[in-house]
Amino acid sequence: MSNYLFSKTAYIKGVQCEKQLFLYKYHYKLQDPLSPEILAKFKGGHDFEDSYREKHFPFAVNIEKIAKNRNDYESLTKKALQKQVADIFEATFVYHDVLVMNDVLSRSSGQWEIQEIKNSAELKATHIQDIALQYYVTKGALEQELSAKLVLFDEIDSYKLIDVTEEVRALQVEIASNVKHFKNVLASSKIPEKAIGEQCEMPYKCSFWGYCHR
Ligand code: SF4
Repeated sequence: MSNYLFSKTAYIKGVQCEKQLFLYKYHYKLQDPLSPEILAKFKGGHDFEDSYREKHFPFAVNIEKIAKNRNDYESLTKKALQKQVADIFEATFVYHDVLVMNDVLSRSSGQWEIQEIKNSAELKATHIQDIALQYYVTKGALEQELSAKLVLFDEIDSYKLIDVTEEVRALQVEIASNVKHFKNVLASSKIPEKAIGEQCEMPYKCSFWGYCHR
């Protein structure tokens, strides 16, 4: 794996609060333990993701399944691309020191598309932020244009695909600026000062809530 400074998860935490980004990178073990509700939510998300991917991409190469460990993900993705594999799960790229893993990277008629799968019936701003960072890194690493779709839960058809390419492209300048800023935050030797406030619960309860509120 190329050296990287932070992952998509860390980036999303940084958008919520710079202090959370710093703690996640350097003081990971200070996080609150995961509650049974959160663990059940994660499992529901994985089950939803698996069922969609198995149904729609039965011949995809799943990087997670063929890798011995996470260090292999990026090189195995490169090998799959060299072999002209059309559909890849957990396609992994590093660009400008940021790591992302795409739920689905697929190629049709020479055009690449990334898909992010969310077990949610409602489209949220955080979903767009999430796939917009994947677009930034994947497009930068592939040096090719992409389209971007979210896969959400649908009561009637099980899944609904929403093309968010335009929304994601509109966020690229902001993302480049955030990445630059977060690198500066992480270059500091001190935990950023941040008073507790609304950001501690929005859009998610911060994973360092207990540490800051003790
Ligand atoms: S609890 Fe609040 S202040 Fe502390 S890291 Fe999280 S979001 Fe930031």
